[in-house]
Amino acid sequence: MPPTSLSTPSPRLVAWSTPLRTRFRGLDARDGLLVRGEAGWAEFSPFWEYDDAESGAWLRAAREAADEGWPAPVRASVPVNVTVPATDPQRAHDIVTSSDGCRTAKVKVAQRDGRGVVEPVDQEVARLEAVRDALGPGGRIRVDANGGWELDEALRRLPLLDRAAGGLEYVEQPCASVEDLAAVRRATSVLVAADESIRRAEDPFAVLRAEAADVVVLKVQPLGGVRACLDLAERVGLPVVVSSALESSVGLAAGLALAAALPELPFACGLATAQLLTYDVVDEPLLPVGGEIVVRRPEPSAAALARASADRATAERWVERYRRVGALLDGAAA
Ligand SMILES: [Mg+2]
Repeated sequence: MPPTSLSTPSPRLVAWSTPLRTRFRGLDARDGLLVRGEAGWAEFSPFWEYDDAESGAWLRAAREAADEGWPAPVRASVPVNVTVPATDPQRAHDIVTSSDGCRTAKVKVAQRDGRGVVEPVDQEVARLEAVRDALGPGGRIRVDANGGWELDEALRRLPLLDRAAGGLEYVEQPCASVEDLAAVRRATSVLVAADESIRRAEDPFAVLRAEAADVVVLKVQPLGGVRACLDLAERVGLPVVVSSALESSVGLAAGLALAAALPELPFACGLATAQLLTYDVVDEPLLPVGGEIVVRRPEPSAAALARASADRATAERWVERYRRVGALLDGAAA
């Protein structure tokens, strides 16, 4: 049921906002806009630091979800990883043990403090040891540096982290540049996954030409929709890990649809991030059971939205942004 009783600017546009359970990506809260179309509810939630031009892809993804829906799934559930932020070992351990059976953990590393100083390696080592302890010997551990290391730092730290983890599945975006990713790949035995080098790059194929990655991370909103990602995956020809952009369960459903439609899915996906939201916009969030999320498309409910409602100023900001980005997209297409 569309929550028409809510005090929103339009019954087909609903802004949401929630505190996060754990500080993540430098954020303590997350917000976005839900858009209802013929095909269902969609999410438009580019991070606030993204300008209108970069937010265009996010809007294309929302329009696909709202107006067209997604290609048919080839699997009924998707294995997912638990995400461990740059936090202390005890909390890292707790996050993994309370992850409802996830057998893969993605651990954030290369965190910088307010002065831009990168976290000491011994803290990263302690976090990885705690995660290995919580997962047991059979689980898989990957690290994500979000491009935060210089090349020499990456080469110095990776062997230590690989050992602390009891073997890393891969390192995601160890350095910012494609050249440095390629250098890491040549210098270590740890597999390299490209994330920012795909989704924020002018040319995602530079990674391929430089032989800079073994795996690519695809996110539906920044890459312009499920079909755009399926097309990119086919052209890249590397294993794909689908990750979220910290969406509500309405936005996560698009990532789940992509993961469900990919011909091959050799790695657990980064779609279990509803766990990080204090409030979601649906009654039954897309959470893992036994380490997998069942493929479905939940609808927002008025009760859930009442808990995750954005204040009036935030809602107005979202609607203005949605209209500006839409005008930009439509102007570019005209
Ligand atoms: Mg990443």
